[in-house]
Amino acid sequence: MTRTIIITTTAPLRVDVKSRQGSISFVDKGAKKETAFVALLSSLWYKAGKWVIEKIRSVVMPYKIKGTVKVLLLALFVSGLSAVVQASGAVTPPEKFLGFRVGADYHLVNYDQALLYFKLLEKESPKIRVQEMGITGMKKPMIYAVISSEDNMKNLDRYREISRKLALVEGLSEDQAHQLAAEGKAVVWIDVGIHATECAPSQHALQLAYDLIASEDPDTRFILDNTILILVFANPDGMQLVAEWYQQNVGTPYETSFMPWVYNLYAGHDNNRDSYMNNLVETRNITRLLNRVWYPVVLYDHHQSAPFPARIWIPPAAEPTNPNLHPLFIRGKNLIGSAMGYDLDREGKDGAISRFLFDFIYPGYEDSFGDYFHIISIMTETALYAYATPRFYTIRDFPEEYRDLTPSAFYPSPWKGGWWRLRDAVDYCVTASKSVLRTSALYRERFLFGKYQMGKDIVSRFTKEPPYAWIIPREQWDGPTAALLVNRLLLQGINIYQADKTFVCDGLTYPTGTWVIPMNQPFALFIKAVFEEQEYPDLSKYPTLWQGVVRPQKFPDAYLPPYDLAGWSLPYQMGVRAVRANTPLDASLVRVDKAVLPGKLLARGAGTAYLISPQTNNSFVAINRILKKGGAVTRAGETFMANGKSYVPGTFVVGSRGLPRAFMEGLAGELSLDIESLDKPDYPKGPKLKAPRIALYKSWRASMDEGWTRWVLEQVEFPFVNVFNAEIKAGSLRDKYDVLIFPSMSTGDIINGNKLGTVPPDYVGGISDVGVTNIIKFVREGGTLITLNDGCRFAVDKMGISVRDALASLQEGEDGYDDSSPKAGSPEFFCPGSILRMNFNTHHPVAYGMPEQGAAVFYYSPAFQLFPVVPPGKDGQVIASYPDESLLISGYIKGEKYLRNKVAAAEFSIDKGKVILLGFGVQNRAQPYGTFKLLFNALLY
Ligand SMILES: [Zn+2]
Repeated sequence: MTRTIIITTTAPLRVDVKSRQGSISFVDKGAKKETAFVALLSSLWYKAGKWVIEKIRSVVMPYKIKGTVKVLLLALFVSGLSAVVQASGAVTPPEKFLGFRVGADYHLVNYDQALLYFKLLEKESPKIRVQEMGITGMKKPMIYAVISSEDNMKNLDRYREISRKLALVEGLSEDQAHQLAAEGKAVVWIDVGIHATECAPSQHALQLAYDLIASEDPDTRFILDNTILILVFANPDGMQLVAEWYQQNVGTPYETSFMPWVYNLYAGHDNNRDSYMNNLVETRNITRLLNRVWYPVVLYDHHQSAPFPARIWIPPAAEPTNPNLHPLFIRGKNLIGSAMGYDLDREGKDGAISRFLFDFIYPGYEDSFGDYFHIISIMTETALYAYATPRFYTIRDFPEEYRDLTPSAFYPSPWKGGWWRLRDAVDYCVTASKSVLRTSALYRERFLFGKYQMGKDIVSRFTKEPPYAWIIPREQWDGPTAALLVNRLLLQGINIYQADKTFVCDGLTYPTGTWVIPMNQPFALFIKAVFEEQEYPDLSKYPTLWQGVVRPQKFPDAYLPPYDLAGWSLPYQMGVRAVRANTPLDASLVRVDKAVLPGKLLARGAGTAYLISPQTNNSFVAINRILKKGGAVTRAGETFMANGKSYVPGTFVVGSRGLPRAFMEGLAGELSLDIESLDKPDYPKGPKLKAPRIALYKSWRASMDEGWTRWVLEQVEFPFVNVFNAEIKAGSLRDKYDVLIFPSMSTGDIINGNKLGTVPPDYVGGISDVGVTNIIKFVREGGTLITLNDGCRFAVDKMGISVRDALASLQEGEDGYDDSSPKAGSPEFFCPGSILRMNFNTHHPVAYGMPEQGAAVFYYSPAFQLFPVVPPGKDGQVIASYPDESLLISGYIKGEKYLRNKVAAAEFSIDKGKVILLGFGVQNRAQPYGTFKLLFNALLY
């Protein structure tokens, strides 16, 4: 969910409508003058060069010199001048290339333009190299630039090798590390535009690159001599989409309207929650470059939603702090942030604020993920958002507590209001980026050695204390998902091994092939941070530690929410068993670079049927391919025995007709499945499957959950289409679809959609009351409506089913996202996103293949009370429920009693059809691989 905190009460103001229509725009009168001065200087250079050539011509030409000599002389002069120009960095300034100044009012540079400009810079200067790091979701090349001094550029491989050696620690003595730190350069990663509607950072990249390459002042030279900048466009698709959307609406009443779709192929804002999971192709490109190619010392991720009226949020961060961080990281972040504040105020850039709103306890952000890989990772949030339209603010627009302009330790130069333009945001970003580079240059040797020191400390810590390793047994509920987890960790640069002999640890015996992640490796704290159960600190307990006032106040009843989730443990989310080694490991291990899980076709008897387990996600890929091929599939309605073996309810029974053995062997091999071929077994028949016609609702209120759902369905190869408001309002849904999915979004967003006047007319409104009637009709006529998490509130309110949300009155507070969505908490109940224990009714077709008890993501979820009240588990309607015992596995919950015995997922019949409520984060951010099956089963039910 988007948690944007920009508060503006003044409507956007236009300065000069006419001048912005022209191709060259310098209407940006309020902008700071420094960069304009640089541009002026460079244009003076051109004029000076031209003047020199003219002089030469007038001096040389009158003399009668032989043609060839004349040409030679001229060539010499011109090339000499061009060398002078080159050496002085007179490369093409962005305004010359673009036709407008970077950050000019009403102009957003798109990615295609940025790419061309960077390629031009590469041609013009030896200080920059442009590289491709992969392809985006929308098939654009994803580029980054390497920028450094000319000398450093000649030795990039050597400097990268030094960074790698210091990061990986292995085989390096302290003396050697000191020598390498003295020789090395600080590799600094700056990425822009991960959140594409936060548009100033990607604009600033062009100015920053130009400034660094073109300037010859001592400060820039010092920066380039000591650092190697890796400048990354983190979300090219988004940069293109947002710029195109803005430019097509500029000058219309919808100039500052929000784009009605997410700013990349799937995840929108959640792309910055994917770093520890690496579901998205862009995240994988970034991870590979960070952890396997460049090993930077500092990572700076630009964002743009400062808490109003501050102009930029900078480190130090808010509490809580993740306990799995080496103290040098925290110090490093604070150091860089404080230096940045100093540089901003030195340049008269008021309004930098720190120390509240953004915490970094959650390791899924790009700007916190790096910490666990010895990269001092920071982010900033500059003011303004999503457009290049200037705004004017008076103090009356400020929240009351900011109107006195009272300076404080972490807000010493309060912003006083006035004009704020994209160019101002760009200037703040440029100052901030240069500050990070400057600090990294100043601390070059210490940061480089610090990288080694932190790694060495961590290796030595886990050589002496538990956990000594994490063990991932081969015996798993869903083996291919366990292998997927291992492969994602390998991508991130974690060292993983396999036992080549049986071994014993903590009294348990593990067979050959067991995966082992020893903790005596430099990036071990990442494993700890994502594997262990999170104990979210109760912030109300630490007033003296965290408030920073003379006599701190206690808040005994306060709930103090984290910025994002409080619990995220990946093994629990993914349903993978991972065991902590509490004693030192004595095992024979072989390092692996890929987790390979063989699958096979086991033949017994004549082989008229194939049996496929309902436990693994990959089984659904197999079933979808079989259905596509016209295969006959049924599911066992209950447990049954065949060939002396017991099979669980929901086992897929596939007729062998039309499915050649080689095809089935191919499925088994590719999907790591054990498929059994046997004589037609005697089993309690369940439903016969046919490929469902699936429609996924897509609102013009861009929904990340819709994007993630789409991503998950594509992975498992479910064919589906998106349906929009117009189609739902038109009706006759049953003619076209068997299943309708509503992602996690508020009832208000679904029914009312965008308000009139806030977006172009095509994107106004929701499904409206007519749509609700049509959906009820769809279900009555035999369709299935599936609602996910928050989307269940829509079904509860509108479908006329006998159920209420037991948490409705408890999840009210100030942190809601809109009028009708759930709230963060109340004094009695508060659960900000945690992993909870859940019981599954494995005899219900929607919970086939699930364990009796497992882990589920509670994320601003409802909890159901069914009518008439029936004890959970006794009712055929109930798919999943919260047990009557301790619920918390990982994270934080207050008021657990309100959830116990409540229903989390249930089925309701309406005439010929059904409504299935999956009322928790079954596929939240595509991370809980352990509960995806509920959605897949519901689609096939
Ligand atoms: Zn952001």
